[in-house]
Amino acid sequence: MSEFELIERIRQRCASTRDDVRLGIGDDAALLAVPLGQALAVSTDTLVEGVHFPPGSRAFDIGWKALAVNLSDLAAMGATPAWATLALTLPRSDAEWIEAFADGFAALAREFKLALVGGDTTQGPLCITITVHGFVPEPLALRRSGAREGDAVYATGTLGDAAAGLRCLDKHDADAERLLSAPLHTREFLIERLNRPTPRVACGSVLRGRAGACIDISDGLLADLGHVCAASGFAAELDLETLPASPALLTLFERDARASLQLAGGDDYELCFTAAPNVAPQLLNDLARTGCGATRIGRIVAGAGVRVRDARGDEFTPSRRSWQHFA
Ligand code: ADP
Ligand code: MG
Repeated sequence: MSEFELIERIRQRCASTRDDVRLGIGDDAALLAVPLGQALAVSTDTLVEGVHFPPGSRAFDIGWKALAVNLSDLAAMGATPAWATLALTLPRSDAEWIEAFADGFAALAREFKLALVGGDTTQGPLCITITVHGFVPEPLALRRSGAREGDAVYATGTLGDAAAGLRCLDKHDADAERLLSAPLHTREFLIERLNRPTPRVACGSVLRGRAGACIDISDGLLADLGHVCAASGFAAELDLETLPASPALLTLFERDARASLQLAGGDDYELCFTAAPNVAPQLLNDLARTGCGATRIGRIVAGAGVRVRDARGDEFTPSRRSWQHFA
């Protein structure tokens, strides 16, 4: 297949109609109409084979995850997804691979009525860059800088599952034998959380204009909440025993290993946000109605940085640090 046949294959599988796409794939640029009164929220994320997913990962999952991690950024801003562009670097022209990839992308795009409006296709080591565009009324956008002393800190869903899934896949893991002999549905749940994250777009919409600060957890809770604290000029205290854990995580990992996965594992794509005491009860009710509730995990206090306390009130230091490129 030539470059143009590849693009046509992607276009066919990701076809979607939106009135605000005045000109989509096929010209030198797309022409898009931003609704009056809305700010355009724009975010880019790249997945590199061997860095963000193991070589040989399923093409469907790569297509899904590449879009999911981008939608997660829009969710964290409280923005509603609208359009995406896709820059694809492929080692070779493989029709079967590209169709499965496009199907994974399209499955998630359909769910959020998102239109693929352009991109670029090149040859080289497998790498996927997606830029997503969404809408949000500017004053209601969720920023990292909005946390205030006295706010409570919350996380949606459960934490640590994806990092646990990665350990389940690692043949060289110190616990590989034990993890391999775990019940199949437990392993599969965790691996699914790694490969097919659910962007919390509905939660972001509920939080819009109501949460203090918000961020999506991609590098690990400690690192990402650390960004909120730095941007807001405050510190956070987390209560270790309150971190939301899935039944699968609870079954497979004891306290210290679990805490490390939840605090520093990353790839969660849950939202971490703060809320003032007077708005929190209604906010939590409204979140629960989206099908994904949130758990109170700590508080914003004066100072800088993030501290974790265990049930006895002692400071807890996880045994691993959050992911950083070039570290
Ligand atoms: P140009 O050379 O003018 O940059 P291209 O030949 O690269 O244009 O692309 C042709 C059209 O196909 C453009 O509209 C571009 O946005 C779109 N396109 C290219 N690659 C992709 C892709 N991977 N996904 C979606 N659209 C793509
Ligand atoms: Mg051109």
